[in-house]
Amino acid sequence: MNIQSGVVYAWFVLFGMGVVVLAMLLDLDARNLSIFFATYLLADAGSYLFHYIVDHYGNAARQGIVREFQNHHAQPGYIAQRPLVEVIYPAAKIITLPVLVVLLLALAGWIPGAWALFLFTLGSCWVFTQVFHRWAHLRRPGRLVSLLQRTGLILGSTAHDRHHESPFMTDFAVINGWTNPLFDAIGMPGLVDIVLEKGLGIEKRSTLVADMAAMQLENRQSV
Ligand SMILES: [Zn+2]
Ligand SMILES: [Zn+2]
Repeated sequence: MNIQSGVVYAWFVLFGMGVVVLAMLLDLDARNLSIFFATYLLADAGSYLFHYIVDHYGNAARQGIVREFQNHHAQPGYIAQRPLVEVIYPAAKIITLPVLVVLLLALAGWIPGAWALFLFTLGSCWVFTQVFHRWAHLRRPGRLVSLLQRTGLILGSTAHDRHHESPFMTDFAVINGWTNPLFDAIGMPGLVDIVLEKGLGIEKRSTLVADMAAMQLENRQSV
């Protein structure tokens, strides 16, 4: 077993243990369900902002998450061909240890169960973001995934397809997509630009539209 698989397996064991620990500590009542769904919504909003920023502000010349996201627009289907371990590993290697600490603190009674639920859900969403995104690109997802997508509990492929249409300026959320209608309607990308470009003076490196046009031209010329 290589290190990537080891970390990902460790994550799944911890995730399963986390569900059991929270079930022991918390009641399945309206308050805890509200915390879970509010956190799930918050994580989706975070995925919208993060995705918009890496698509447009990062330096794709360097290896890393920015290049990965911007390359994803050149080859949207590639993520579906990558092994799940490869997709999960970058987040799992960061989040596994902090989530273990949260669960241990909760078991010891040093943090309230509600806080453990919030942090565990947030950490899990971070790991599963690219999984749900990958599933949205599968041509034939399994029955269970398909059901979760149809019920709107995770990102659906129809909604995500819109993100891959020029000018690539909508539907950035990739966890469940619940924040997409609101953030698209209020023009969240423009608000982020105001803060980052005008407020903080950060250079916007890509509009993706120009990059995609250049890439298509390159491909045509190389045929
Ligand atoms: Zn994108
Ligand atoms: Zn995608």
